[in-house]
Amino acid sequence: MLYRLKTDFRLSIITLLGASAVLGITPFAVMRFMQGNVLAGIVDTTILLGITSGVAYAWITGDTRRSGLILAIIACGGAVMVGAVVGEPGLFWLYPCLVTSFFLTSPRIAIVLNIASVVALIIHGGAFSSELQMWSFASTALVVSACAYVFAYRNDDQRRRLEHLATIDPLTGIKNRRSMDQALLYAASSAERTSTPCALALLDIDHFKSINDQYGHGVGDTVLSELVAMIEQNTRKTDQLFRYGGEEFVLLLPGVDETDLRAVVNNLQQVLRKYMKSPGGPVTVSFGVASFKAGESVDSWLARADSALYRAKDSGRDKVVFSDIQALGA
Ligand code: GH3
Ligand code: MG
Ligand code: MG
Repeated sequence: MLYRLKTDFRLSIITLLGASAVLGITPFAVMRFMQGNVLAGIVDTTILLGITSGVAYAWITGDTRRSGLILAIIACGGAVMVGAVVGEPGLFWLYPCLVTSFFLTSPRIAIVLNIASVVALIIHGGAFSSELQMWSFASTALVVSACAYVFAYRNDDQRRRLEHLATIDPLTGIKNRRSMDQALLYAASSAERTSTPCALALLDIDHFKSINDQYGHGVGDTVLSELVAMIEQNTRKTDQLFRYGGEEFVLLLPGVDETDLRAVVNNLQQVLRKYMKSPGGPVTVSFGVASFKAGESVDSWLARADSALYRAKDSGRDKVVFSDIQALGA
């Protein structure tokens, strides 16, 4: 439970809102019933029930996007109703709702929701003791919303950038192993569901260490970047290339059947063999290729490609080996 609160920011805000609602609204609901203000008591109780149901939904389903939106609507709508029923003292409840709506839903929806809440109170008009007070309230509510919007927007932007950085290999600019794990899971389940073929090729540069040793790490880095550029130029847009680690790459080839797969991979090997160069001469690459088999796990799919690559290396390098089939190539 603590782990979910720590790792899921929106769930923590939803939970905080739930706890604040129970602690903050319950005494008011009780007080209003005791004072005989049944309508205000019912409004408070309805808000309380709505918020606690939203929090429970978020915890049970993990769908914080939908529950966040519903809670933002309940919180803002509830604050407007409290303002309309109780009058001036109820208006203050809108301020925390204006701020939290930015953490519960997207900045764009939150700004629309906030403006709608303030406009609804202005149209109703009954909550304000004077026109001056009404416009003061509207202006301060808009300032609070604007500040929260800027903060939420920056927060969202930075989170997106961090997520992007966490999935990219800085040297080559392609996706890293972390994104590969997700992409392979997705590709395997999609191949399983739609019964379409999908293959992966594990590529490893031959004798790469000696390029580094003889010409330096910088030259090795250039070879890695050139290899990526060449593979990208010679594969389809739907194919995905990942840096698996060091001088190893995974090429995911969706929708390619066994016959086409041979042609595609053999052609790629020939292009690389012809054009990849280091100061010491041609650079070659070994390939281990495996087509996804219905019912197998991603680990077993990768392991088959890995053992095919091992056989390619073992049989002299600069080879393409297809899993479950004997060595082909140079
Ligand atoms: P094999 O043909 O058996 O694959 O031999 P190899 O030399 O290619 O493989 P080995 O695993 O012995 O060496 C891989 C080298 O790749 C060692 C490591 O220093 C180098 N390497 C890993 N990441 C990078 C990188 O980002 N830049 C550079 N320049 N070298 C890297
Ligand atoms: Mg190597
Ligand atoms: Mg290697």
